[in-house]
Amino acid sequence: MTDPASPHTLADILDRMAAACRAAGREPDEVRLVAVSKQQPWANIEPILAAGQTTFGENRVQEAQERWAERRDGLTLHLIGALQTNKAREALDLFDVIETVDRSKLARVLADEIQKAGRSPRLYVQVNTGEEPQKAGVGPDQADAFIAECRLAYGLSIEGLMCIPPAEEEPAMHFALLAKIAARNGLARLSMGMSDDFETAIRFGATSVRVGSALFGPRTPKGTA
Ligand SMILES: *Cc1c(COP(=O)(O)O)cnc(C)c1O
Repeated sequence: MTDPASPHTLADILDRMAAACRAAGREPDEVRLVAVSKQQPWANIEPILAAGQTTFGENRVQEAQERWAERRDGLTLHLIGALQTNKAREALDLFDVIETVDRSKLARVLADEIQKAGRSPRLYVQVNTGEEPQKAGVGPDQADAFIAECRLAYGLSIEGLMCIPPAEEEPAMHFALLAKIAARNGLARLSMGMSDDFETAIRFGATSVRVGSALFGPRTPKGTA
């Protein structure tokens, strides 16, 4: 293992992603690395940015604004945390991809704000594949209906799905389930896989993986250390 948050770590993660792609008979450029910078001190982010990483994931709108608003150019930002409806406008002003569309009210508010703004971020629906009560996301049994509602009732263009498997379970079955739901709904993007399981996710068809601690090191609350 190389030290976290160095150009070597970034190269190492990208190498592992490429190897997982080749092992699965996929092209390395089919899978994008979303570097999850939430709760990281700038000292950990800077070397990864300097090494050429341009796609970052954040789970809070305000924290992401503080970190990225002034240096937004050339970056692709993904929102990977729960979105409150009262933050929808700010989220669509900042993010290129919102991965956490998961309820009717949010879909409706996003549709309104997208219309007012005259442009839309790319949107993924979050699926709670493990049906965990504490976790956000639409249940796997409601996913088809919710995706249809987003499209037909709200005119949203949904591009993909995202999931966070239960911590204690084998992630492969959750990745397979997400891929199946995406396929039957004609969705091309799959955001799945984190530090501990991104290679498995690539095997099951991930088009982006969200890697935080393996890239940056352990998180510090508020990222202020
Ligand atoms: C924090 C977070 C990650 C990154 O987790 P690591 O285990 O540090 O790679 C990925 N996805 C989501 C939704 C997260 O909140």
